[in-house]
This record gives sequence, C-alpha cells and structure tokens, in this order.
Amino acid sequence: METIGTDFVIVGGGLMGCSAALDLSRKGCSVVLLERGFVGAEASGVNFGLLRRQDRFLAQLPLANRAVEIWHRLESVVGEDCEVEIRGHLRFALDDEDMAVIEDYAAGAREYGFDIEILDGPDLRRRWPWLSDRLIGAGWSPDDGVANPRLVTPAYARAAQAAGADIREEHEAVEMTRDANGFRIVTRHGLEVRAPVMLNTAGAWSHHVSARFGEPVPLTAIGPPEAVTEPVPYFIEPTIQRVGSPVVVRQVKRGNVIVAGKPRGIADNVANRAYVAPRNTLANMRKALEVVPSLRSINLIRVWSGIEAALPDNLPVIGPSLTTPGLFHAFGFSGHGFQVGPAVGVVLSELATDGRTATPIEPFTMGRFADYQGEDADA
Ligand SMILES: Cc1cc2nc3c(=O)[nH]c(=O)nc-3n(C[C@H](O)[C@H](O)[C@H](O)COP(=O)(O)OP(=O)(O)OC[C@H]3O[C@@H](n4cnc5c(N)ncnc54)[C@H](O)[C@@H]3O)c2cc1C
Repeated sequence: METIGTDFVIVGGGLMGCSAALDLSRKGCSVVLLERGFVGAEASGVNFGLLRRQDRFLAQLPLANRAVEIWHRLESVVGEDCEVEIRGHLRFALDDEDMAVIEDYAAGAREYGFDIEILDGPDLRRRWPWLSDRLIGAGWSPDDGVANPRLVTPAYARAAQAAGADIREEHEAVEMTRDANGFRIVTRHGLEVRAPVMLNTAGAWSHHVSARFGEPVPLTAIGPPEAVTEPVPYFIEPTIQRVGSPVVVRQVKRGNVIVAGKPRGIADNVANRAYVAPRNTLANMRKALEVVPSLRSINLIRVWSGIEAALPDNLPVIGPSLTTPGLFHAFGFSGHGFQVGPAVGVVLSELATDGRTATPIEPFTMGRFADYQGEDADA
C-alpha cells in the first residue's frame, strides 16, 4: 500500500475542496485531495452557473460578498478563462406580495453592504423591452452574474496542482479514522494518507464522512431540474429569477437559453442518479414563457440535473467538527453553493491554518444538528 504523509487531506474534489486545496497550497502547505470520481464532475460541474446574491440568507452575505470579489478576478486566481460574465441579476415580481419581499430583502441586504436597485415595471421594459408586461418590478444587482460550471472546478484543481497539491482522482476515501497521530484515510485503490488536519468537502456524501466521526446530520440529496434550448440570437443579458425561484432563466452567449426552477427533483446519492420529471420541465418552460414571451416557439434540446446536498434549514455546515479536533466540514449548500464556493475554500483554508476566519460563519455551525441521531449515526 502506498502511504503519503501530508499537512492537509481533503475528501471531495468539488468546488469547495478544490478551492481550499488551491488556497492551502499557495500558502506553502502540503495537501492531498482525494476525489472518488473526477474533480468537478458532481454538483459543482453540472449546476446552472448562477452567481446570485439576492434571496440568499442575509447572514450569508459576508461570505457571498467575499466570493463576488474573487469571481470578478477569477481568471487571475486560477489562470484560466472560466466564462465568468458579470451581467447583473434581476429578481422580479409578478404581484405586490413579491414586490414587498424584494423591497424588504433590499433593506436587509444594505446592512451587509449589498446594494440592490429597485426598478418598477416601466423601468424594466425600458431597459429590457423583451420582458413581459406582467412584471411589476424587480430588484437589480449589477455585480452578480454567471460562470461556466464545467470549467471552474477543474481550473481550480489544475491551479492547485501547479501550486503543489497532490490531486488524486478515482480515489474514494473508504476508511477514515483518527488516533493520537492524526487522521488515517485509506482509499478504495489502496492509498493510505496520514494528516493532522482533514477537510470534509464530500458534497451529497458528506454525511457519511461526518458520521464516521460521531456527527450524523440529516442530509438529503436534491436534484434541481435544468433544461436548455436550441441556440437563438443572444438577447437575454441578465439572469432573471422570480421571487422564491419558481423559475430562473439565463442565456449563454452561444445562444442557448437555460431554464431552471422549482420544484426541486429527487436525487439518488446511492445509485448516483438525478432524475428530471418531464412535468417539472414543462411547468418551468411555461413559467419562463410568462416572463419572456418571445421564447414561445423555441425547442428544448436537453434536460439534466445533479446531486446536491441539502439540509433541513437550507443552510450549509461550514466550520470545525464539534467531536474531532483537526476536522473541518463544508457541505449542505442546498442548491446555492456555486456562488459562495471560491470564498468557502478560502475560509476553510483560514480555519485549517489559523483556527479562525474574519468571515462570520456562526450560523453555519455543526451544532445545529447536535441532537440528531439519524441513520448514519453508526456508519
Ligand atoms: C443542477 C444543479 C444546479 C445548481 N445551480 C446552482 C446555481 O446556479 N448557483 C449556485 O450557487 N449553486 C447551484 N447549485 C449548487 C452548487 O452546485 C453546489 O452547492 C456546489 O457545487 C457544491 O459543491 P461541493 O464541492 O460541496 O460538492 P460537489 O461538487 O458535489 O463535490 C463533492 C465531491 O466529493 C466527492 N466525494 C464524495 N464522497 C467521497 C469520498 N468518500 N471520497 C472521495 N471523494 C468523495 C464526490 O465525488 C464529489 O465530486 C446547483 C446544484 C445542482 C445539482
């Protein structure tokens, strides 16, 4: 069996794990990242690509603001173009109730240094004449945008590798223990890694990791339904989303329109399948047409989903284990972790090296689930 000693071992090569690997490696730490399949092949690589802050839990805005700062200069961080486009995000209202939600949120967000401009119906149609006249107003955040999820995490992994990280794909961590000498992780292909510090960034499988260390969590797997159309001439510049996310629309510069929305589908994190129910796709397309009527005769060419970790309060766990010194968790992003991903990696790296971070993460403590005794309790 090959044995490696390292400063940090990371289990899970999605955006959280790879961005932490990059930050730690650039600090001069030795890092081994274990990925069961291929980096960025799960939720981090198949998501909608939306970098929105509106509608985020307010206390998550410091983390999201930190991420915005990284997204705006991502090419210089990872050394590759990941198709980041800062074209603004429009969170729209169809009725007065929606509008009140938007205005309330804007007032709260201002406290966190996030300014949302309130637009009325005529403003909207003046700026974007293709929007339906059913929209009565919106919150506009011009600094938000999109990125190509297929490109981002592999770019992080390559940058981490260039900085010295040892990235091992097709290495599923199957044995995970800790004794007086630190963590001992063994992979399915017979690699043994020993490290004093471990990061659990295993996405929709993180509960299996945390349960090994006596921390079961009520994690479920969700599969947000996504659909993409044939390409049409580019006209939808901002991303657009109704309050509560029953529909979200964006267009890539190549012309394809991507439509997502609720209800979230069910994902199977045992068989590793995420299923898109046709009725959800049809419902989302109908809702998209209500907002952008000119999409009326467009053809869908593909639907997909992915396997995402959700927690009951729709907030992630980010921070130290409460049972095991040297173990840090970041998982359960509940359908909106792509935007915060680059900042989560930096925060994990700060926690793992300095034991603290300037970014407030108290609401994301593992302590929320301290009383949970679930099915993974004995895993
Ligand atoms: C369809 C879809 C659309 C979404 N849209 C958006 C969006 O528009 N905006 C947004 O902000 N967020 C969005 N999200 C959420 C976002 O994609 C996720 O929150 C984020 O990518 C989670 O990253 P992660 O690194 O925690 O998990 P993942 O990307 O799932 O990575 C976890 C990795 O851990 C590996 N792993 C698991 N167990 C082990 C083990 N034992 N050993 C080794 N490796 C292991 C897995 O193979 C996987 O690669 C969406 C998610 C989905 C599925």
